[in-house]
Amino acid sequence: MHAVVVVGNGPVGQTAALLLARWGITVVVLDQRTAREAVGSKSICQQRDVLDVWAAAGVPEIAAEGLTWTTARTFYRDRELFAWSFVDPGSSPLPPFVNISQSRTEQLLDQRIAAEPLIEVRWAYDVIRIDQDSDAVTLTCATDAGEVAVQASYVITATGGHCVLRDQLGVRFEGESFDDRFLICDIRADLPGWERERRFYFDPEWNPGRQVLIHPCPDSTYRIDWQVPAGYDLAEEERTGALDARTRKVIGDRQYEIVWRSVYRFQARLVDRMRVGRVLLAGDCAHLLAPFGARGLNSGVLDAENAAWKLAFVLRGWAPETLLDSYHDERHAAAVENLDVTSATMRFLVPHGEAAVRERHQVLEAAMTDPDARSRVDSGRLAEPFWYVDSPLTTADPTRPFGGRPARGQSPAVCPGVLVPDAPIHDPDRRTVTRLREIVRDGVLAITTSGQDVSPALKNAIDAPSRVVRLETIDDSGALSAALGARTGEVWLIRPDGHVAAVLADPDPATIAAVGRRMLGL
Ligand SMILES: Cc1cc2nc3c(=O)[nH]c(=O)nc-3n(C[C@H](O)[C@H](O)[C@H](O)COP(=O)(O)OP(=O)(O)OC[C@H]3O[C@@H](n4cnc5c(N)ncnc54)[C@H](O)[C@@H]3O)c2cc1C
Repeated sequence: MHAVVVVGNGPVGQTAALLLARWGITVVVLDQRTAREAVGSKSICQQRDVLDVWAAAGVPEIAAEGLTWTTARTFYRDRELFAWSFVDPGSSPLPPFVNISQSRTEQLLDQRIAAEPLIEVRWAYDVIRIDQDSDAVTLTCATDAGEVAVQASYVITATGGHCVLRDQLGVRFEGESFDDRFLICDIRADLPGWERERRFYFDPEWNPGRQVLIHPCPDSTYRIDWQVPAGYDLAEEERTGALDARTRKVIGDRQYEIVWRSVYRFQARLVDRMRVGRVLLAGDCAHLLAPFGARGLNSGVLDAENAAWKLAFVLRGWAPETLLDSYHDERHAAAVENLDVTSATMRFLVPHGEAAVRERHQVLEAAMTDPDARSRVDSGRLAEPFWYVDSPLTTADPTRPFGGRPARGQSPAVCPGVLVPDAPIHDPDRRTVTRLREIVRDGVLAITTSGQDVSPALKNAIDAPSRVVRLETIDDSGALSAALGARTGEVWLIRPDGHVAAVLADPDPATIAAVGRRMLGL
């Protein structure tokens, strides 16, 4: 029997497999396709903390190869309404966002998987049935050799939106499908001045009454995303030359080459359960989001990380199986937030009904002159990590209350539940300068501000890899102390996925033990 089987070799399944292998867990990845297909026009826009997860998974090339952009501009007709850039609460060496095609991301993940002896990939394994009992999950797979049963202690289904296994698991997948259509063309062209910015146009003269989104990508490629009328016919536009005319209205009379084009409709759906016994649902299999805000794959990767460390801790005997309940608690709450954000964007982008259309028009008109109205213009709130402030693993700190969803481009103030900011540190054990995020993923990390000896209490309470460091010995520059807002006498407990589990002021050993156990579901 395998320790973990990941069903679905898309980017979420690939990431989950790599992160499990990082914890020393053997993984089999099954996919119904016969081989990797380089499909275009899917995800491009990947967020800093997701790039950080991929770097931890051994694939720093995604950040390195991606095209960095820092500014999002929003226009109404021929006028720029506003622009924003992203604020880093710490000082990460990673860019806030890069654009890179999903097919290249998958290729880079494949290369790392090929070099990882703990991962076995089986293409042409179509999982047609899933059964489980208290000991194992059995997957019935249609293969070239007939039906094959594969057994595992735990399964991650990362099977994408079209998943036949959800029904068998008894999971509901409710939500809505949007009728509106979007034409997405990736073109290669030289567009001076457009290389480093995301541009969103409401009602431009070259797509009147609708909007257009333009993203720069590596290799002089640009993604142009037009909202198009119902009944839009791509084949007909290609045949008549209307697609060429449409493109030239945006880029002018320049040479260009179409790399990929497709027409999409989007859905907003969420499963009611992300854990069903020994099965964890991740990525598009668990939630489908409209892509404005780039929250699909970005949040799927964070599902993969959450699932991987928890499964690894359970399999290694460091945490009880009930820790897996917190996978649902945390990632379902994250998906609800993502749905809320992306659905609000869709309501603004494609208002339905005369009143909604009129209101949007009024907001856009007002935003030309009124800065307050600009905050109501919704061209997408870009992906951000979720704050596990209500998680059963988090211990709140009354002196650091969660301030709610922060302003666009900002991170919440650091408090329990929030992803710890990154900063350069000196690692005394490795005698090297590194960054905080490179040491958080090795287990439970305790950072003390007054050199309290918390190791005995922590080691008595939990039987998992843990490390205690004194803040002043790792923080030569003071950047980390400033980012944390750390105070004298505190102990910071950080989870293996970098989220702050607790900040304790002058804790006694019993409190450290209780909070340490809580963060592992003990
Ligand atoms: C136009 C567009 C733009 C987007 N832009 C962004 C963006 O900028 N940023 C972002 O973060 N996200 C974006 N997304 C979303 C992103 O593409 C998805 O979130 C991502 O593909 C989800 O990855 P996944 O691994 O969960 O699923 P998938 O990529 O769908 O992979 C699922 C895999 O499971 C396999 N599979 C399915 N069923 C079975 C079975 N029964 N047995 C075996 N194998 C099976 C499939 O063959 C496939 O390989 C965009 C999406 C679209 C459509």
